[in-house]
Amino acid sequence: MLPYGRHSVVEDDIEAVTAVLRGDWLTTGPAVQSFESELARWAGGSPCVSVSSGTAALHVAYAAAGIGRGDEVVTSPITFVSTAATAHLLGARAVFADVEPDTANLDPAAAADAVTARTRAVTAVDYAGHPAEYDDLRKVTDAADAVLIDDAAHAIGSLYRGRPVGSIADLTTFSFFPTKSVTTAEGGAVAVADRARLRAASAFRNHGLVRDPDEQRTPDEGGWHQEVHTFGLNYRLPDVLCALGVSQLSRLGAFKARRAALAARYDALLAGVPGLVLPVRRPHVDPVWHLYPVRIQDGRRREVYDRMRAAGIGVQVNYIPAYWHPVFTDLGYRRGMCPNAETYYSEQLSLPLFPALTEPDQDRVIDLLRGILG
Ligand SMILES: *Cc1c(COP(=O)(O)O)cnc(C)c1O
Repeated sequence: MLPYGRHSVVEDDIEAVTAVLRGDWLTTGPAVQSFESELARWAGGSPCVSVSSGTAALHVAYAAAGIGRGDEVVTSPITFVSTAATAHLLGARAVFADVEPDTANLDPAAAADAVTARTRAVTAVDYAGHPAEYDDLRKVTDAADAVLIDDAAHAIGSLYRGRPVGSIADLTTFSFFPTKSVTTAEGGAVAVADRARLRAASAFRNHGLVRDPDEQRTPDEGGWHQEVHTFGLNYRLPDVLCALGVSQLSRLGAFKARRAALAARYDALLAGVPGLVLPVRRPHVDPVWHLYPVRIQDGRRREVYDRMRAAGIGVQVNYIPAYWHPVFTDLGYRRGMCPNAETYYSEQLSLPLFPALTEPDQDRVIDLLRGILG
């Protein structure tokens, strides 16, 4: 099966990992710092805290933003469930606002309408790698006195009005799952410029431990002493995986170019196919395309999915509206809440897109899709 996404791991990556395995630090060592420094360069200079997954990054970001019981987080339903699930785990509640019909990104006007006195954060998702409308979303969070969060699991390396993702929102989260644009197998990170939130994020991913004697309540306890001031978890990303991340980031520019070339090829070779809508790109963004999301009209998405899968093309659907998951149904969320998102979901199909996708394999995808719809 030709997959819809696939990691790109080369000998340099393997050497970087084996070098760590032969060294003294498997975790909490110098590769963590190296990875975080390289990430910060891609995030427009925002300091980064590496964590064990994109989901952990969202949990850490919400915790560092002070999200807790009774708070509301306005977010998009066209995302992986963890964007909302992590807010609920902290006792908050996701309020789903509708998406723009073409980009499937959070619609700033819908987000503004969803704001209440309990709103503490607005979390946008850069769907497929295409940044959301941050200037308009910032107006919403300013008016609501809320934190702006970017779930950039799809969008490391993307630019919005020339600014790198990671330097736009108050907190930005990344995922390094193998289908994403760079991978550490499992992994994630939080980019955050504010110093207090940065400290909170670092502490939360490491049990809440305070090691700096200047910050401890009883620093005279002894040289071994460390204190927990707030509860945290172990969300650390080990050196073994951070080394893979450093090596991967050195190729992110090449990944971006290859993904752009493949997306442009899909754009050209699928133009004008009846019943097929291709992804849009706003003129002020420069995305790293994580997905190539098309829309299949006339109620044929299920048929096209089944026929392409049967032919060995591993297309995917991203995503079922998050509030359709039974966990949200059980909490009283109802279908029909976000009509644009539900329509988008009913038509969406992700075509194979990854750096090692060859032109002949891409042609097979295109010919098959043209054959079904043509
Ligand atoms: C992948 C993804 C996540 C979760 O990341 P993991 O590393 O798989 O935990 C969260 N949000 C979005 C939009 C994602 O695509």
